[in-house]
Amino acid sequence: MKLQPILFTLLFTLLAGCVTIQAQDTKLKWLGHAAFSITTPNGKVLLIDPWLSNGQNPDAKNGQDPLAAISRVDYILITHGHRDHVGEAVAIAKKTGAKLIANPELARNLVKLTDFPEKQAGDYIMQMGGEIQIADGEVTVAMTEAVHSSSVFNPKAGPNEPERAYGGSPAGYVIMIKNGPTVYHTGDTAYFKDMEVIGETYAVDVALINISQMGAKMSARAAQSVRTKLAVPMHFGAPGDALLSADAFAADLKQMKINFYEMKPGETLSFRGRQMIRK
Ligand SMILES: [Zn+2]
Repeated sequence: MKLQPILFTLLFTLLAGCVTIQAQDTKLKWLGHAAFSITTPNGKVLLIDPWLSNGQNPDAKNGQDPLAAISRVDYILITHGHRDHVGEAVAIAKKTGAKLIANPELARNLVKLTDFPEKQAGDYIMQMGGEIQIADGEVTVAMTEAVHSSSVFNPKAGPNEPERAYGGSPAGYVIMIKNGPTVYHTGDTAYFKDMEVIGETYAVDVALINISQMGAKMSARAAQSVRTKLAVPMHFGAPGDALLSADAFAADLKQMKINFYEMKPGETLSFRGRQMIRK
């Protein structure tokens, strides 16, 4: 028996195994404020609330164009029409060909008033309570309730016209990834007791919680209500945010024995299956 071919086969099998495992990871990246990207095990990229020029995003520091760091985006999910959530959605859609996921009023007004590419704003329009499949069935997206307001800034408004157009109902999203985690993005909601229904319905692995809108105490209650395995704070720590730190939120979660992780802007978390991999 020759040893060389056996060693070669063994090495090849090991390498192939590593590559396969690597390809199965889900990447969750915080781009500051409420903006996150999710890269699925099959390599599809979802961008949520893409205000990338926020002051926290490392890709926007020192006058850099944050869009330069964006190459592939397949889907843009927008929770509501406020500018700190729509952000650079139009430019990103034009650059990448990404499809919009939003409610119909927000989608149509983004097309009509801000020149979002029309062909990319028709296939994945949804309403609260609905679920859609995207990424060839790899991802299921559910739109959830959010207690907030929503409007689309209209740059074309004349002096006597309202500068804020209707944006439909604000929302949150539950994003279920095959061979990956289930991620709940709260949007800008205040706490509402029916978050318990989200917890009863979905097995949330990671909840991205807007702690400035809810406050520390109710944010911790939100984490408890949705029964998340891991709570990650967002929409805090910058001028204009009600909360500059997530410390009080973390302290409340500790008492409730709920796992907490504070991401740094620009940081990526990896998940193998539903499990977070600590680096
Ligand atoms: Zn906001």
